[in-house]
Amino acid sequence: MGQNVQESKIVKKVINHLYIHYPFCTSRCGYCSFYTEAFSWARQTEYLKLLQVEINSYVYNSRYDLQLDTIYFGGGTPSLLSSGYTSVLTSIISEKNKECEITLECNPITMTEAYIKVLKLSGVNRLSIGIQSMNEKNLKYLGRRHSPKQVIDVVSKLRKKKYNNISGDLIYGIPHQTLADVEKDIEEFIKLGLDHISIYCLSLDDDAPLAKDKKLIPKDEIVADMYQLICHKLREVGFEQYEISNFAKKNKYSRHNLAYWQQKDYLGLGPGAYRTLGDSRCHNGEYAQWKDAIEFGRDCPNKEDLSKKDLLNEYIMLQLRLNRGLDLEELNLKYGFKIWDEKKNILRKFIDTGYLEENQKRLCLTDKSRFISNYVISELMEE
Ligand code: SF4
Repeated sequence: MGQNVQESKIVKKVINHLYIHYPFCTSRCGYCSFYTEAFSWARQTEYLKLLQVEINSYVYNSRYDLQLDTIYFGGGTPSLLSSGYTSVLTSIISEKNKECEITLECNPITMTEAYIKVLKLSGVNRLSIGIQSMNEKNLKYLGRRHSPKQVIDVVSKLRKKKYNNISGDLIYGIPHQTLADVEKDIEEFIKLGLDHISIYCLSLDDDAPLAKDKKLIPKDEIVADMYQLICHKLREVGFEQYEISNFAKKNKYSRHNLAYWQQKDYLGLGPGAYRTLGDSRCHNGEYAQWKDAIEFGRDCPNKEDLSKKDLLNEYIMLQLRLNRGLDLEELNLKYGFKIWDEKKNILRKFIDTGYLEENQKRLCLTDKSRFISNYVISELMEE
């Protein structure tokens, strides 16, 4: 009897990080090639019902133990979700640790005073604002519907409500943009007094509304100079660059994104979301597939088993993106990969040319190589 009880004990998988995807947008930005759905109240109502079923399937599941350190509402435009619903969602997910970081991606046009007030009560304690540019002309070109003045107002309202963890996204490499334009833009960003800034180099995929303008994107050398200029300007005013495209003041790193970069397990709910638990990755698929899986109680519509080589290469890529770099002892312990034995010649070459530095058994990218990180990292992966 005792033995049977022992055998039936299930070791629960502890999950510390949760991503919730809200797929709806009211219009399409010119550069967007992400998966999105057109907003309607009816579809949002259905989405919320299905999402609650999906949340419950993890909260009341004997296989999982949710002890959440981070929750991230990404999209789409999650700030279209009324703050009341955000409260409902955050309260359903009651398995939060005391210091849980709860981030909501938001569009400045949705951030009214009343919305911010209820949002604060819902427990959302970090905002990631889709600013993209503080230049009126660029915003119009990119298809964003807010103005620089609205961004200034939103940040000020958030500060009044004691939000002390505000991030902003910046896009550079916009057609016709010059180095001087980028300098002006980053100076306007700095004036906002944000705690965190994420920067993105504009790319126009074939399915983006502005795809025809691809040829107007400034040349690679100019975009590389823009990147260096932004890094320099942000560091000059006390931002720490902790990842290729991410900068934080006073240790206000994105704890959620750090979990991805540290290859931790995470749960992803909602259409379009991914989850990775150990060597298993699942993609929920787009709306119809997601809905179907929930209604028929199917676990995962698109499952991928990651091989040891997949995980090793992903680990090298993610760790090198971080400024603290790749810990060689940890790499060996985790994957049995002795990089100096396997990649001696290429490592020598990259160190001699200043593309890599080795500090206390860590390999790090340098200012010279961060912009071309894909090339450097791909050379270091196991073939
Ligand atoms: S808000 Fe984001 S997801 Fe929505 S259309 Fe714009 S870029 Fe795409």
